[in-house]
Amino acid sequence: MTSKLSFDQVDWHNTIFMMVVCLLAVVGAPAYIIFFGLDWFQLGMFLFYVVATGMSITLGYHRLFSHLSFKASWPVRLFTLIFGACAFENSALKWVSDHRLHHKHTDHDEDPYDIRKGFIWAHIGWILFRQDPTPPMDNVTDLRKDKLVMWQYRWDKVIALVAGLLVPSILGYLWQGSWVGALGGFLISGVLRIFVVQQSTFFINSLCHTVGRRPYCSNSSARDSFLMSLFTFGEGYHNYHHEFQHDYRNGVKPWNFDPTKWAIWTLEKLGLAKDLRRVPRSKIILAEMHAARNSAEKELQRIEQLPDCDWKEKAIKSLKNLIERIQGIYEEFIAEMGKRKSELSRRCMHNWSRKTRQMLDELADIRFQFSAT
Ligand SMILES: [Zn+2]
Ligand SMILES: [Zn+2]
Repeated sequence: MTSKLSFDQVDWHNTIFMMVVCLLAVVGAPAYIIFFGLDWFQLGMFLFYVVATGMSITLGYHRLFSHLSFKASWPVRLFTLIFGACAFENSALKWVSDHRLHHKHTDHDEDPYDIRKGFIWAHIGWILFRQDPTPPMDNVTDLRKDKLVMWQYRWDKVIALVAGLLVPSILGYLWQGSWVGALGGFLISGVLRIFVVQQSTFFINSLCHTVGRRPYCSNSSARDSFLMSLFTFGEGYHNYHHEFQHDYRNGVKPWNFDPTKWAIWTLEKLGLAKDLRRVPRSKIILAEMHAARNSAEKELQRIEQLPDCDWKEKAIKSLKNLIERIQGIYEEFIAEMGKRKSELSRRCMHNWSRKTRQMLDELADIRFQFSAT
């Protein structure tokens, strides 16, 4: 599964950059705040940069350029390309190429951030070591036709240095009229912000493939996590995203915390985005039912392989009964869909989702009851 890494494969450019950013963010930025304080301008600029660069990755690099989940006007594309570069996560073209490989080969060797190679590898290891052989970037021919994307590809590092580090330093200087202001802009809105946004992106590749639920596909390592969505502008619903990658929403339920989804919807209302792609509700429910049945079947297999004990028969009986009932509502749902000419209403979808969730709760109860015996 994992090939041995050699010292020759260390990407020194990335490694030194990451170490300097980490050191300045963890030591330099807090020291600056202790010695010089933090006024509302510096704080406001930091928050602006976190949102602008973070959402340029999630809305721009990810949902727009990687998955073509909507179409955006040139000002939106230009904004996300400039501020996306400021996140120091590579050009959009390279980022998209890696990400498309991740989706195509999830949980396989060709996945650049394959979680099976370990949490640290998926989080940051794959950046600190050169990929061998280097992927040919032959999966982004569509983006090569976009002049703005190619402009950013050529000038990525210059844009990142100027807009991501120099501009906040100059603004800090102009605000406070001294080098202390410039240093604050550089450390807080520059380096600390790069660290925060990068870690947020990296956690999607590591934690979102480790912790959380799998309500849409139980065979993938990708997980849904409300907690992660809070730190990733809504990208925490990663199990849904892996199952339906072309949907502009990651948190598909109305109550899911997905600021990137809300931003895309708002851009559409402002006439700056169009052709938002949505997976039909019926398809989503079918995926939920399928995942619930798979989870129950896996649990049944696990218990059947256990040595005989006094509760084993009872657990098997409960699980078989549950699988039968999940299959029942699955067939009922297919029959109802066959009778309908139009897509399900939101209320109807909610009812079927609720029935599926109840079955999953029952599965969790069975697991708890028999693991606690
Ligand atoms: Zn993933
Ligand atoms: Zn994706």
